[in-house]
Amino acid sequence: MSAVVPRVSKHRAAFGRRLNPPLPQTVRTLWVVFGDQLDPRFSVFRKHFDKAHDAVLMAEVDEESRHVASHVQRTTLFLSAMRHYAESLSARDVRVRYVTLDNADNTQSLDGEVRRAVGELRPERLAVIRPGEWRIVTMVEAWRESLQLPLTMHEDPHFLTTPAEFGEWATGRRTMVMEHFYRVMRRRLEILIAPDGGPEGGRWNFDADNRKGYKGDRDTLPPRVRHEPDDITRDVMAMVRERLGDLPGRLDDFNWPVTREQALAELRDFITHRLAHFGDYQDAMVVGRPWMYHSLLSAPMNLKLLDPREIVTLAVEAYRRGVAPLNAVEGFVRQIIGWREFIRGVYWHEGAGYGARNALGQTHSLPSMYWTGTSEMQCMRESLGEVLSNGFGHHIQRLMVTGNFAMMAGVHPREISDWYLGMYVDAIDWASLPNTLGMSQHADGGVVGTKPYAASGRYIDRQGDYCTGCRFSPGVRLGDDACPFTTFYWDFLLRHRATFARNHRMAMPLKNLDAMSDQERTAIAARANAVRDSLGMRPMAAPTSP
Ligand code: FAD
Ligand code: SF4
Repeated sequence: MSAVVPRVSKHRAAFGRRLNPPLPQTVRTLWVVFGDQLDPRFSVFRKHFDKAHDAVLMAEVDEESRHVASHVQRTTLFLSAMRHYAESLSARDVRVRYVTLDNADNTQSLDGEVRRAVGELRPERLAVIRPGEWRIVTMVEAWRESLQLPLTMHEDPHFLTTPAEFGEWATGRRTMVMEHFYRVMRRRLEILIAPDGGPEGGRWNFDADNRKGYKGDRDTLPPRVRHEPDDITRDVMAMVRERLGDLPGRLDDFNWPVTREQALAELRDFITHRLAHFGDYQDAMVVGRPWMYHSLLSAPMNLKLLDPREIVTLAVEAYRRGVAPLNAVEGFVRQIIGWREFIRGVYWHEGAGYGARNALGQTHSLPSMYWTGTSEMQCMRESLGEVLSNGFGHHIQRLMVTGNFAMMAGVHPREISDWYLGMYVDAIDWASLPNTLGMSQHADGGVVGTKPYAASGRYIDRQGDYCTGCRFSPGVRLGDDACPFTTFYWDFLLRHRATFARNHRMAMPLKNLDAMSDQERTAIAARANAVRDSLGMRPMAAPTSP
């Protein structure tokens, strides 16, 4: 039988010594806990875990960092948070079999580690909490038969809606509109509801007051809270450098919360220093300022170090105490109880085939600048450079810069979806895929958004200072100074005119397109092809589905 802790390695300096309780002689239920299931309240365990007879399996495996190329900060975050969590389980007398990445017996796949553990521990049954990815659900379901063991999949209590509840809401609707879902959630959870049963402040949505471009002083933007790496994190960083150093991104500035305490510090910092301006500058972009007024809570929330309920409660309290205005708090609450739950609902509702959709029939490869950050376009250089340095970009950089560019340039949705899944510290498939393939690429044909988020350089210019000092001009579509976003915007409309002809939300841009001369349209298509060539973009194999 394999030891409870992995065999000694130089990366065991800090971790492992504190995994104390020996495994029981016979394991009744073996719980497989995945890296994004680090619930500090142990909600599922408290109800269902039998300390005398059950054990937990956690495994660090190469495959999870390589099935799409994973940013080194993303891997470090997961592994360090997993090790801290394993220790906290152990401190509660939960028996943990923890397999480190450098364990010589490690098969380097989750499937392999479950099979190895089952072979050695001979459990009577398996249990999991619903994983965050169809790929893993399919693997887990296969264990029932291939390992001949009963298996229970518990729903994840972290979320505010179950896939079944979302399915009930979605079934029979012609289109799934997030705003409708959000209102149902507001009422159901009784958040920001006035005594008369209507929305607090008389409106459900204060976006008309939000989303300003940032014209303020860059130096007054709040600094980021610092999470000093402890011994465990430093060990993981050394191991990642040694074993996974070929993977993308830079590790030097790793500053993500890996424990509940650090996650709470991030939350308090947001409520105190950022929330009040969250709504105003939600869509603003400033050179050299990656954090703006965003909460930076997606990664600790997605790993389950924080619960959405506690975050929303603190934000609403801040409004009641007069610390933050209603437009900021409503906007923030909508992101969490609205967008976050809606996106997850869509992921499970649309099924395992969702990731293969390519409604616009896009064919091109991802330009290499997505991996290097090298670009003449200042907005791309900033947004991609920040992802490489931090494993993070805020929503509007993801949607309107890196995502918008890929869609308008014609990148195959699978190429760009894999990039997003690997490169962001908060990326789990349930969150990443509908946002990328659906919202940003319109590859689901309009499930997440009724129109594509396509915008020219003028939009980017309005939202901040990226265009100041860029060698291109945001309003110009042809010629040497033409902004590639602006050229691609018109080329995108040209290429997909027929698809959008009946979409009334696209009527105005198509009318402007139709007002152009044939000569200009031809010149735009030629310039767009030249930009694609200069970026090394090539057509790939036929799209996976029409
Ligand atoms: P804030 O701006 O402070 O927002 C607060 C919270 O609201 C976030 O922490 C997040 O939990 C939630 N939220 C807001 N919008 C969304 C949304 N559209 N979907 C889900 N949750 C939302 N979010 C992820 O958590 N994981 C991903 O892998 C991911 N990939 C994305 C890919 C693309 C192309 C796009 C356009 C968006 C993606 N998002 C993803 C959504 C959103 O961009 C991030 O949640 C947000 O930028 C995280 O930063 P923050 O915590 O500072 O968010
Ligand atoms: Fe980006 Fe165009 Fe603005 Fe340059 S001019 S920063 S390429 S939007």
